[in-house]
Amino acid sequence: MKKYFWMVFAVAVLAACGGKDTPQPTESLTLSVAPQELSFSATESVSKLVVVTSNGDWTVSSTESWIHVNSGSGSGKGSFSVSVDVQDKAEDRSGSVQVSASKGSDSKAATISVKQSGAVVSVDVVPAPAAFDGTKRASTTYQLLIYSFADSDGDGVGDFKGIQNKLDYLDGLGVTALWLSPAHPSGSYHGYEVSDYAALNPLYGTEEDFKALLDAAHAKGISIYMDFVLNHSGTGNEWFKSVTANPKDSPYNDYYVISDNPDAGAVDNFAGTTNPGMGRWFPVLNSGIRKESLHFKLDWTGSKKKVTVSRTTESVQSSNPDTHVQRYIYFGNDKLYRLYETSSNIYEITVDYDSDWGFLVRTSSSSWSAGTKYGGNKYKTGAGVVKLDVPYELEVSVENGYDPGNLVPEGYCYFGSFGESMPDLNYGKYTECENSPVFKATVDAAAKWVNMGVDGFRLDAVLWIYQAQLAANQRFLDQWYQAVNKAYREAGHADNIFVVGEAWEDHSTEKQYYKGLISNFEFNYGGMVSGMLGNQNAGGYVTAVNSYVTDHTAQRADAVTSFFLTNHDQDRFAEWVGKSAAKEKQAAALLLSGPGKPFVYQGEELGYYGTKSNGDEYVRAPILWDRAGTDCAKKGVNNKVDTGMLKADISVEAQQEVEGSLLNVYKTWSRLRNTYPALAEGTMTKAGLSGTSIAAWYMTSGSQKLLVIHNVSSSAKEVKVTDSMAKPVGLLGKASVKEQTLTLGANSSVVFEL
Ligand code: MG
Repeated sequence: MKKYFWMVFAVAVLAACGGKDTPQPTESLTLSVAPQELSFSATESVSKLVVVTSNGDWTVSSTESWIHVNSGSGSGKGSFSVSVDVQDKAEDRSGSVQVSASKGSDSKAATISVKQSGAVVSVDVVPAPAAFDGTKRASTTYQLLIYSFADSDGDGVGDFKGIQNKLDYLDGLGVTALWLSPAHPSGSYHGYEVSDYAALNPLYGTEEDFKALLDAAHAKGISIYMDFVLNHSGTGNEWFKSVTANPKDSPYNDYYVISDNPDAGAVDNFAGTTNPGMGRWFPVLNSGIRKESLHFKLDWTGSKKKVTVSRTTESVQSSNPDTHVQRYIYFGNDKLYRLYETSSNIYEITVDYDSDWGFLVRTSSSSWSAGTKYGGNKYKTGAGVVKLDVPYELEVSVENGYDPGNLVPEGYCYFGSFGESMPDLNYGKYTECENSPVFKATVDAAAKWVNMGVDGFRLDAVLWIYQAQLAANQRFLDQWYQAVNKAYREAGHADNIFVVGEAWEDHSTEKQYYKGLISNFEFNYGGMVSGMLGNQNAGGYVTAVNSYVTDHTAQRADAVTSFFLTNHDQDRFAEWVGKSAAKEKQAAALLLSGPGKPFVYQGEELGYYGTKSNGDEYVRAPILWDRAGTDCAKKGVNNKVDTGMLKADISVEAQQEVEGSLLNVYKTWSRLRNTYPALAEGTMTKAGLSGTSIAAWYMTSGSQKLLVIHNVSSSAKEVKVTDSMAKPVGLLGKASVKEQTLTLGANSSVVFEL
């Protein structure tokens, strides 16, 4: 211990007395910092400690305003803490903290790197679909009314050349087929009273014009489907005219459902039922008594009033001059005869009867209904045929708002499911319908058009061909399809012809018509879409749509489900959704992003509205091609147009210029469907996303898989999505993504490619 003390003492003395020639040993400045790098998240608010080891004094400063240090200086070993501002920007950022140490004249510096990652932010969905390769694969069909679509010759009625002139418009809509309203000569503007199945309506053009349309459409990848009316013809058909001229012996009697005793019950064309369900018998004009002396007797004594018609050789009488009597027979060319009261409440007269439409019993010379129970135009429900010498019970019907038509002295009657102007065609016993002459005639006519280049048919009112008798209709349709398909294949086609039926029934019945036809319209669909948009509940949509498709495929492997919103026989879809443009746009997106074959009805793409209560023409309005209404085919609908609707801003010209117009929504989603095979022909499977207003599904074809999400609510909704949303390809409305949360705006829709 003592020895150690002396050694220290000696060193100290030596140091103190070192002398001027010995340099003082100096301690050099030291500086180290740890850690040398700090990382923060965008929302991290805690401070991080930095330890400084130095033998000098030191100061601290940051290079960025968002980096903060809690101490500006220190001495010797010490520490300070660093914090950063939270941020909501997506970008990463970096800066540094500088530590400077000094000791005497010596100085050193050290840098601490500070990094902060960017915030997770909501990013607007901007669709970037693949380029359309020019191959239209969507199988979208446009239902077109020839008479009101486009007029080329200035007569105000649409025509074949008019359609041809607008093929670019239809091509722009991405359609692959047109369903034309009946193109045949017809007694009605809409064409469903066909006069000749093998001819074309001269108002629309010639066969050369039609062929030119077919060729031009085919050049753009657009097929043409004709509307064929197999249930009935028009009364202007030569077949029916022959029957009218010679009801007992016409060679065309077998073409129609004709009877001289219609109350007798079932006929072949009712397929066993005695209750046809729709329609009634009408007298064949000129077939019964039309011109001879007849005695009329009105029995007004009982609670049921009666008329008896008899042949007579009595002298004809002039009208009773006694104006107190108010009982009349009215017939022919405005002939009105006042009857004679021959006893109390018995009225009689003999006249030269001459009428090709029948007669009425009236109780007023001036009023048709006279406000009395038996005023005006009455007859018993049924044929309206009065058998000679048999009292015919008059029935009140005007009071019930039903105009029953005319009374006719007995003769032949024909049946019309859809009224007097549309006599039903008669295919005979359904087990041998293919042998009936009118079956062969309609197939021959269809074959003519197939040979000209027609690609398919839409069959009108197929339920009523055999009066809603399912087995009969199935067999008939199958036979007709096969016969026409044979003609189609013989014309050189490798595929089968497309034929879609109008089996206007609930799905449970409609699906069974696939036993007869490759396709039928799914009438439940449009109502389901408008209902869903109305109650903002998308819960059952995917399951329902899938069940439609699978139910049809279960009937036949080659089934094609034809989906549509509305057609020419319904109030406009815009009416169904309260003229809401947002809902109309989303209906388009729904229709074009699911399975099946979509049909778009003329004017639906423009937001046309209108109801049948104003007349059928008001749901069949002409296309307004430009703001001024030039070439608008108003005459095609008898000038019955809603001028309030057909304003400039609903025109094609105006809507083409507005991004996000209904027309452009149709174009965009149609193009999307044409671009992606998964949309055009893929399989639909439900995506398990939660949300009452969310309809979400996958469309898959081969290796391509898309995720389709619609928010049918009128407010924005957040949806948790497990799939990648990195590749949005379609958008309606607004959508944004934040991590795995999708915010979908009101009535907005989005498609992601997975
Ligand atoms: Mg014209």
